[in-house]
Order: sequence, then C-alpha cells, then structure tokens
Amino acid sequence: MTEIHFYRGLRTIGGTVIEIATDSARCLFDFGSAGLDAWQRPVNPRPDKRVYDALRTGALPAIDGIYDHTDLCDLPLDPYDEDAKRPVFFLISHVHIDHIGSLDYLDESIPVYMTRKSLRIYQTLCELGDFEYRPHRNCVALDDGDWVTVGDIRFRALPVDHDIPGACGFEIVTPDGRIAYTGDFRLHGFDRADSLDFVRAVQGADLCISEGVTVSFIEDFDAVIPTDELSERSNSEARILTEIGAAAGLAPGLVFLNVYPRNLERLRRLPELLRQHDREMVWEPDTAFLLESCCGLRDLSVYTPFEKGERSRDRRYITREILQSDPGRYVLQLSLDNLLETLDFSGCNPLYLHANGVPLGDYDPAYRQLLDFLEMQNIPFLTLGCGGHAEPANLKFLLETIAPRYLVPLHSLTPEKIKIRGSQQILPPENSVYKLENGKLI
Ligand SMILES: [Zn+2]
Ligand SMILES: [Zn+2]
Repeated sequence: MTEIHFYRGLRTIGGTVIEIATDSARCLFDFGSAGLDAWQRPVNPRPDKRVYDALRTGALPAIDGIYDHTDLCDLPLDPYDEDAKRPVFFLISHVHIDHIGSLDYLDESIPVYMTRKSLRIYQTLCELGDFEYRPHRNCVALDDGDWVTVGDIRFRALPVDHDIPGACGFEIVTPDGRIAYTGDFRLHGFDRADSLDFVRAVQGADLCISEGVTVSFIEDFDAVIPTDELSERSNSEARILTEIGAAAGLAPGLVFLNVYPRNLERLRRLPELLRQHDREMVWEPDTAFLLESCCGLRDLSVYTPFEKGERSRDRRYITREILQSDPGRYVLQLSLDNLLETLDFSGCNPLYLHANGVPLGDYDPAYRQLLDFLEMQNIPFLTLGCGGHAEPANLKFLLETIAPRYLVPLHSLTPEKIKIRGSQQILPPENSVYKLENGKLI
C-alpha cells in the first residue's frame, strides 16, 4: 500500500512538503521555508529551542520521525530513529530557499538526497554562512538519471531547466504506481532540453505533482494554447544576456548590476559577454566565491571595499578609486545590502541595472524604496529579467506531454486553474492523505 501525505505548500509559492509512504520506506520532498520568516525581526530566535519554537509557531510541519529527540523537548511527536523499521529520507529538487530553507531543522542524520550540482551549491552556501541554524550533515549526491532504491521505493533525479544549476524533477516508483514531481521548471533557460527530456521520461506517470507559479498571475489557463516555443513577448535567459550586454555597451558611465546571485548560469556568462562590450565585470566577494567554487571560474575581478576576509591570489582586486577614474569600463555587481556604495559615484554617470535581484518586484515594499532612493540620487533605473518558472503555454505543453492519470498542481497561488485534458485534477487540502492502489488515487 502507498500513502501520499500532502502536508503543506499546496496554495503557496514554495514550502511544499509531501510524503510518499509504503510499508517499507518513507520518502519526503522538498523541505523549504514558507513560514520561518513570518516573524519579522526583532523577535529573536532562541538558539537552544529553534526546532521546538518553529514547531510550536507552525513554521515547521508537525511530522513524526524526522526531528531530533532533544530538539523536540516535550512535544508529542515521535523523534527520528535511525533504526526505524521504515527508513525515512528526503529528496530536494533544488537549492532555493523555498525548497531547502528548513533543512537545518531536520534531525542531522536523516539522509537527504539532491543532485551533485545542488550539493556543491548547498555546501558552498553553508561555507558562506547562508543558513542561520546548522548545515545538514547527511546529504547524499545523486547522479542524473541513476535509480536509487530504499525499501520498496525507487527514485531518480532528472535534470530540469530552472534559474539555479542542479535543479531536477523526480520520478518515484512504488509497488502501487509511478509518481512524477516536477520541482520548479521552465523552457526559457539555457537548459530547456533538460525539461523536455524530463517530461518525456516521466510520460504516462500515474500521478504528476507539478509547480504552477505563473498561472497565479493569469486569468484563464483553459484558454492557453500549449506550445514548447517561446512567445514573442516572453524573455529568455539568452535574450536577457543580450540586453544586459547592450545596456552596458550604451551606458555612458558606471553600471551597477543587481542580479540574483544563485542564477549562476547567467552570472557565469557575464564576464565574457561584458568583455565584448569593453566592460569588466566586478563582483561582490561572496558571489565570486560561489562562481569559483561551483562553476570553476578563476581570475575574477572583486571589489576591494566589500572584501572582508583575506585576499586571494586567484582574484583581481578593483578599488573604488579605479572605478571612479574610469567608470565607463566597469560593471559593478551591487546587491541591495550594498546600495549606499552608489553615493560615492554620483559624478560617474551611473546606471542601475536590475536583473532579477532582490527586491524582486513591486510586491516587496523595498522595491519602492529602492526606486525612490535612486531617483533622489539621480541614478537612472533599468529593469530586465526573466523568471524561473515555465510560462503558462509552456507549462501546459509540459504537463500535456507527461499526460498523467492524475494531476496535483501546487506551488501556485491558484492551483485550481491548472487543468489539462485527459488528466483528473486533484486539489488536496493541507495535511490530507491519499491512497495509491494499482495506479488509482483514492
Ligand atoms: Zn520554488
Ligand atoms: Zn525555485
């Protein structure tokens, strides 16, 4: 018998936690945060009660057998047991905070599987101190397409295109049926072929659990005509790069570039692209570290005022004075945290180029503040970018290619809109349990 528990993340963008349980194993995926930030500071976490507090406040799902005995204090949940009759393990589709943000809170010895590329990024982010609690100890690397068996559950990670390297979907097989989980995916990035290969590989799955981010923002998914092509209007990673290059080429002075630092595939291509426009890309040290560690780049130019650690011989250091003396030759990566650095370049004809950096959009109050600040400083603002999720027409194509018997849309504000011909739509409430028997969902 296979049971599928839908714990959370069913009507939110992120925070998906689902369990597939058989008589001999328990497979959970993903484990992101959708609620840990619910408390705006200054409510401080209590260092000795992080897991307990997160469970008491609903930031973590109350699930038996996945938390450490001591961390639980007196909460009435079964702790993780390494020798349990049914082994428990997690799958992580990619290293975005809404998919791994709560990993620090699991019992440290639970096996957590992710792709080799994801693991590399996760370890680098841990080195950078990106996770506020503790790095997870027992992470296991998966090679693309290789089957792994735990009890009577078999699974494999298949790469998909997303705005972070290492992203994958999963195919999970139990004696009762075949399940496909898409993770986050799209067709407009550099790895669109991966998403196409994924949907073909999991074609005919009994159950498909799919993200549906972009459908949150359209009226009518039924009217969408499915296609694997990119629409005239839609931006692709390739087009964004061309536009960034063109903007940097035309700008008269220094360009500040606010990019999403985990979109490493886009970042990796920037130095070479900007060289063609006679510009040198100058990085914040943490981003340079990610590019060195995860993409093997060397000789990156790093902005001296932001370097807190020791200087590395593999980097070229660029001082403030160098930028000021020849501003038209450089592009400086500038996160929101470092915004005040712009104050030293008012005489350098600066341009602020926003390409999917934080704040991501006008739903974040910080976005308005950023625009006001730049206006006050007379710095022109240009925004270019594309998202990590399949456009509705591409999503429909991908789902219709999988053509599952049942479709559970989630990771969307409006999952009910996501229906495809030939598949029965299921909208599980939070904490509901379904049975999978002979490929039928009950
Ligand atoms: Zn996501
Ligand atoms: Zn994502």
